[in-house]
Amino acid sequence: MAQTTWQFNLDHQPHTVTAEISLFGGIRSVQVDGTALPAAGESRFDSPGLRNFSIGGHSFQVVKYAGGAALLMDGQAVPSAPGQPLPARLQKYEAQRAFWQKLSQLTGLKENPRADGQLEWRNRLIGTADNRLVVLNYSLSNQTLRPRIAIFTRFAEEKDLNGLRSKIESDPAVLALAKRLKRFTLEMTVQPVGAAILLPYDLRKTTPEQVVEDIRTLFNVIKKYTRPLPLTFCDWGQCKSAAHPRELVFYNHSPLLVCTSCMPLLEKAGETNQARFNRRTPGLLKAASAGLAVAALVGVFFGIWKVSIILAIASVALFFAIIAAMNRLTIKRTAGMIWLAGAFTLLGVGIATIMEATLKLMRTLNEASQVQYGMVFSQPETVRMMLTNLSISLVLTALTLWFALHQQQQGVRELTHPVIEHSGVLD
Ligand SMILES: [Zn+2]
Repeated sequence: MAQTTWQFNLDHQPHTVTAEISLFGGIRSVQVDGTALPAAGESRFDSPGLRNFSIGGHSFQVVKYAGGAALLMDGQAVPSAPGQPLPARLQKYEAQRAFWQKLSQLTGLKENPRADGQLEWRNRLIGTADNRLVVLNYSLSNQTLRPRIAIFTRFAEEKDLNGLRSKIESDPAVLALAKRLKRFTLEMTVQPVGAAILLPYDLRKTTPEQVVEDIRTLFNVIKKYTRPLPLTFCDWGQCKSAAHPRELVFYNHSPLLVCTSCMPLLEKAGETNQARFNRRTPGLLKAASAGLAVAALVGVFFGIWKVSIILAIASVALFFAIIAAMNRLTIKRTAGMIWLAGAFTLLGVGIATIMEATLKLMRTLNEASQVQYGMVFSQPETVRMMLTNLSISLVLTALTLWFALHQQQQGVRELTHPVIEHSGVLD
């Protein structure tokens, strides 16, 4: 447990904020001028690593990061005491923030910090350009963890996605840009009514002016091959004809254009999803048979090849194969299904071991041997193999199970408690 304190003046009044951070957990408590803030979750955008509050009309956040905690006032990092330097990590954050502020000035897009974004992830610009919605987001490349700008824009429904994608990718302007960035191609996601192109940038090498030029280039390429969203368009549900004005909202961080009459439905999305999720039947029996079939088939196969140990080492793959088989037969993934998949993984490894042990035992038998039912289980060789294989598989399955259950919990939470942020940008 570490305690961090910030002292600062606001409108000539001294203030003290103290945060208690646990090393592996999150923010334990935050005290503002000696008074504890309510527990996490009071604010809609709080999370274990983020607390929101306000003092005198200014928004404040306590943010946990690897190696410390930051206090942000209206997005700006506050030093521990007036005149003190910021830690290196926060100087980096401030450099990024200045870069995005400059982007905002140059593009005319509005700063719209992501409410639950931590440090750099707050950076987001929104607005319209040539009657088209534009969202610029901070993002990181999956492979190199280099910062990128995700450029989102929307367009009228496009049926031929691959065609659109190749038109964008083979446009001379995009080819020239990729070449300058020393990339084979630019990363992009093309969807029926919108696209995101990811533009890598390096604060030490790229200027905001250059980035803005590149963004304009990409934006013009998309404009060239798509038509603007029709006025009747609304992102919500089955809405056929939008009631204007429409607002740009972020639904679990995805930019959506929602019309006035659908907005109340959007606010209730969490409850609606919860009800729909509860109504679905899990079909556990069907899922169980699919999982069992995979475990048994794979188990027998590896047993016959006498490589049950390989199956034990590949427990993670077996686990996901079982989950995939279950998913094909049911529409609702439950925590129960995931536990069952864990059990089937161990069963599969067990089956493979017994097969392998039986085949080995059969080779040692001769005419005089007395064959008894179940004698394979009394062989020391079987016991040794079973112990080794099951313990390898148990460790790997436990880790996978922990990961899958965590994902499941997160998925259900995102479904039933979507993060909805209003941007105020109307179209
Ligand atoms: Zn609508």
